[in-house]
Amino acid sequence: MQFCSDCGSPNQRSTPEGDTHERDVCTDCGKIHYVNPKVVVGAVCTWDDKVLLCRRAIDPRRGFWTVPAGFMETGESTEQGAIRETLEEANAQIEVTDLLAVYNIVRLSQVQIFYRAKMLTPDFRAGIETLELDLFPIRKIPWDDLAFPTVHWVLNKAIDVKDHPSPVIPDLRG
Ligand SMILES: [Zn+2]
Repeated sequence: MQFCSDCGSPNQRSTPEGDTHERDVCTDCGKIHYVNPKVVVGAVCTWDDKVLLCRRAIDPRRGFWTVPAGFMETGESTEQGAIRETLEEANAQIEVTDLLAVYNIVRLSQVQIFYRAKMLTPDFRAGIETLELDLFPIRKIPWDDLAFPTVHWVLNKAIDVKDHPSPVIPDLRG
């Protein structure tokens, strides 16, 4: 961050006293600008053993398939965020059942949290960030056209791999 968010003066990289990390510190008012990881929340939503997948209408990875997920907002819990993202991207009503996975994407400074969820009705409709969407039987999951490694990982975790062996999953963590 080049300029102070409070007074607009230039920032300078330095380690505040008692801190362990370099920060952008205002050269005028001394404000310390902390930057912390962002939280992504999502849900693997099912109806009758089928998984709800959305084809992304936005970059990055436009045109590729994902589960409903997005950045957590202030004022909501991670479960509420997963429910909201599913409503926004898929217009689907869900009930969160349990935590599936937490992934650290250190390279992107993200923590991604995914829940298992049941659709309350079989209804869905593309939201503004979705080109199209559908309920996929497990054997029809488009493994080669998934948007992100975490979508691979979490789908793999959500399904019974004994019954439905999935392809090799790229590991791009770190
Ligand atoms: Zn300042």
